[in-house]
Amino acid sequence: MTLEPKMKLLKHKRTKIIATVGPACADEDSIRQMIHKGVNIFRLNMSHGEHAEHYASYQMIRNIAAECKKHIAVLVDLSGPKIRTGAFKNNQILLVKGDGVTITMRDAEGEPGLIPSQYKKLAHDVSVGQRIFLADGAMELVVEKVENTEVYCRVLQGGILGNHKGINLPDSVVSAPSMTEKDYDDAMFAVGLGVDFLALSFVRHVDDIHLLRAWLEEQGSDISIIAKVERPEALNDAGAIIEAADAIMVARGDLGVELPPEQVPITQDVLIKEARKQCKPVIVATQVLESMIEHAQPTRAETTDIFHSVSSSADAIMLSGETAVGKYPVESVAMMARVIMNAEAYLWHQGAFFFGTVNQPHQSALPFGHAVARSTSLLSRDLMVHGIVVLSESGWTTVTVSAERPEAPILAVTSSEETCRRTNLIWGVIPVLVEAEDMGSHVTLAKKLVKTYSLAKMGDPILLVQGFHRDEAENRPSIMVLKA
Ligand code: ATP
Ligand code: MG
Ligand code: MG
Repeated sequence: MTLEPKMKLLKHKRTKIIATVGPACADEDSIRQMIHKGVNIFRLNMSHGEHAEHYASYQMIRNIAAECKKHIAVLVDLSGPKIRTGAFKNNQILLVKGDGVTITMRDAEGEPGLIPSQYKKLAHDVSVGQRIFLADGAMELVVEKVENTEVYCRVLQGGILGNHKGINLPDSVVSAPSMTEKDYDDAMFAVGLGVDFLALSFVRHVDDIHLLRAWLEEQGSDISIIAKVERPEALNDAGAIIEAADAIMVARGDLGVELPPEQVPITQDVLIKEARKQCKPVIVATQVLESMIEHAQPTRAETTDIFHSVSSSADAIMLSGETAVGKYPVESVAMMARVIMNAEAYLWHQGAFFFGTVNQPHQSALPFGHAVARSTSLLSRDLMVHGIVVLSESGWTTVTVSAERPEAPILAVTSSEETCRRTNLIWGVIPVLVEAEDMGSHVTLAKKLVKTYSLAKMGDPILLVQGFHRDEAENRPSIMVLKA
């Protein structure tokens, strides 16, 4: 076996990068550099920070994106009913195996031996003998006694516990609703800002998505909803959740506490396959380059994990603490982009692109859109096409064409700024914004754009795809084969 030493990287990265904003990177220079290194979407996590800080970050991202002429999207991540620790006097405490520690429902500041809980019904929800996990499962306690506002525990697995870290109760039924009061408040803030995606944490049932969708409609908003799959209950309803949401996130942090660790990779695989089958974008999140929070180099296992996400055809991979609080936020993005680009080049050289959704034998005719998308992918390969121009006002054509993972990059052309930013989540898509009147002269536009984006030279084969519509009567999808 030999490795191809001079493997040529593809000009455009296909897999998208999401980076979480936090104190480590919320400055103009870092945001600019992160965009430059390959970030497509920034995530504002409502579990941390104040609205004023998020507002400042949001404005900064929009301004810098405009300056860089990039259609960068913003995702607001709602905390959901996540149970968290409060704040500690010195920002953290040490938990030693075998020691006693008390979790209190009182509004107290934390200190050694005392952990404040932000969730006031924790004492009600747990009972003696049950386990409590802290900080995505890094530490473990067992309940010894519950008395009014105090839960007395023993440390089974120690460590350093920081402010606002997650508390998981895998043995209890948590009574909190899927959207807390804080979530409505944060969602209203996000609607006011005009963000592109809203991620709903701890989705348990498809109704959680319907509820948020209905609430957004009441606010006159059509923000895309990303369902974070991290509860075991959600797995039983995964098909319906994927159908109801606009995209899903495999949120491995909480998933890995709620499920045994050995089931996380299998769950990730099943979720990616189901989302891909339904042409819904899928994001892989948490601990992707965890060691880069502290170190300038990732572990080998981390780079291999990214390769795995790319080869299993995720649309996007997300950085959390690495960029929010890590020592190397820009380097983490650069490393992620390098691993992705190398993985994609390797897969491309192996002819492994075109792992579309309908490779499986099918009994009945495919829906028009899927069949045309599949043919687009085949033509892209057979004609060695240099670029696929997709005209799509809603982004639906784009997501369907991308789902077949064609070899050529997809120029997703729209006159809607919102659609343009949202399509930046989708695998292989280069979002392009044009004036509404330019959308009319399709062929001229397509020929011009492939040259502007340096995808094709005069005479190179290109494809023009358009005419998809959700309404059957208006659905007239077509593929035009052109020379640039
Ligand atoms: P989620 O369950 O939504 O992923 P999280 O607590 O795991 O929430 P991440 O965004 O994944 O948060 O970030 C990982 C860690 O980085 C957090 O536990 C927190 O300690 C820190 N962090 C993230 N964003 C901020 C922020 N804006 N301010 C302070 N700390 C932050
Ligand atoms: Mg996290
Ligand atoms: Mg979470």
